[in-house]
Amino acid sequence: AMRIIAIANQKGGVGKTTTAVNLAASFAAEEQRTLLLDLDPQGNATSALGVARGAEPAAYDLLMGGAKVAEVAQPTLAAGLDLVPAGDRLIGAEVELALSPHREARLKDALGAGVEEYAYVLIDCPPSLGLLTVNALAAAHSVLIPLQCEYYALEGLARIMEAIALCRVSLNPGLQVEGIVLTMYDMRLNICEQVEQEVRRHFPHAVLKTVIPRNVRLSEAPSFGKPVIMYDRRSAGAESYLRLAKEIIDGATQSPR
Ligand code: ATP
Ligand code: MG
Repeated sequence: AMRIIAIANQKGGVGKTTTAVNLAASFAAEEQRTLLLDLDPQGNATSALGVARGAEPAAYDLLMGGAKVAEVAQPTLAAGLDLVPAGDRLIGAEVELALSPHREARLKDALGAGVEEYAYVLIDCPPSLGLLTVNALAAAHSVLIPLQCEYYALEGLARIMEAIALCRVSLNPGLQVEGIVLTMYDMRLNICEQVEQEVRRHFPHAVLKTVIPRNVRLSEAPSFGKPVIMYDRRSAGAESYLRLAKEIIDGATQSPR
């Protein structure tokens, strides 16, 4: 069954977009047709797939313009992976949403039809818990939380867990935590090991087995407009995201977290 996964963390620069793009490409490589929806006005996921940030039609039209998924999704150079680009007008959507009726559920409505052909829909969220992220949480089956190993990582994690709990009460009772994925992991740094131990202790069932290492190929690939598996398939970064995709696909056949 089709699964909508929001990739969210209000903290900036923790690896949301890198995870969204490379997990999406890895799902597609595993023959799971995937749609990546760029819901961040920065448009980083869009440009990481070699598409102009201002491409139209775009996420704005889905959210605010009544467009259908098939009208805004475009194929990418990765077979089996489609993209809804961010587009220029998404920057104003947060304010427009605040003033519009039904403001938390617009994306849920928009994704209510036209996504049947996909196995996964991934939503790349902006670094805030504003209305764009709330729309993603309301529309999703689950949330994947990228977590960078650093001081205060757990405090930030507590905040997004609260937002998820609130969202369950008011908007989306079935919302699950797909998992917490540790990103930019550096084995040589004590802080990484400390954060990993602490997070695994606090959230023993939520932390995914797969850890994403710090890998320069992951930071280079976007400037070539390619997911890492098309840029350097043998890199540690590519292999880790393929492993993450398999872990999530296998997890879908087991009990929910
Ligand atoms: P924002 O909150 O601004 O949307 P983000 O959470 O989407 O940021 P990314 O853009 O994915 O974070 O990553 C931030 C920076 O770190 C980028 O320059 C990216 O290339 C780099 N980066 C992310 N993950 C890795 C990794 N595993 N190894 C090396 N560099 C990484
Ligand atoms: Mg991002």
